[in-house]
Formats: sequence, C-alpha cells, structure tokens
Amino acid sequence: MPRPDWTILLDDMATQRVRTCTLCGSPLDQLSLESWSNGTVVAAVVLCPLCRQRDAQRPAVRAVLERRYGRATDTEGDSGSCMASA
Ligand SMILES: [Zn+2]
Repeated sequence: MPRPDWTILLDDMATQRVRTCTLCGSPLDQLSLESWSNGTVVAAVVLCPLCRQRDAQRPAVRAVLERRYGRATDTEGDSGSCMASA
C-alpha cells in the first residue's frame, strides 16, 4: 500500500494556510490542527470553534478537500461506482 504524500500538509503549514479556518476562512488565534487524507495526500485541517461544532463529523471538510485533492480511493465502497474526475 502506497504511503500518502505529506507534502501538502507541510505546504499548508509553510504557507500559513493553517492560520485560517479550512471551511469559513476566519482567522484563528488558537491553532487546533487536524489532518485529512484521501489515501494519496495528507492535508492540514484547521477549524474555528464554530465550524468545529457545526461540522462535527467533518462531512463539509471532506467535501472541500475532496474537491481540492480528489476523492479517497480506499474507502469501503459506498459510492464505489462513481468515479468522478475533476
Ligand atoms: Zn470556520
């Protein structure tokens, strides 16, 4: 199994993308870092307190990052026949 690429996460940190909320873009003074992976890349996820509550199971985060980096390839097939490509 190939290991996901962590470059994205490091780039997120380096470019200070982690200073704003992944979902709403609000500036954050407190950093709470999560990560997301589609099996190919790992990306940094930071959320403001509001979005953390609003998106408790992170479906919105997943949607945003899947749009940006592509769908997970190794999840058990709930939408296996849907091979959308951007
Ligand atoms: Zn937010």
